[in-house]
Amino acid sequence: MDVQYTPQAPEGKKCVQCKFYQKVNEQSGKCFGHDVIPQGGCNKFTAK
Ligand code: SF4
Repeated sequence: MDVQYTPQAPEGKKCVQCKFYQKVNEQSGKCFGHDVIPQGGCNKFTAK
């Protein structure tokens, strides 16, 4: 299954709430080596 990334994920399914999110700073983070933003999200979201 391909990753469907969105820069504006619904509340409760944001990168910042995902266990794969690694915070870099308040505006950015990393997910499996990719740059992501806290309010983004994808279909691999897994709650912390
Ligand atoms: S798996 Fe998806 S929702 Fe979770 S941090 Fe990575 S890009 Fe964001």
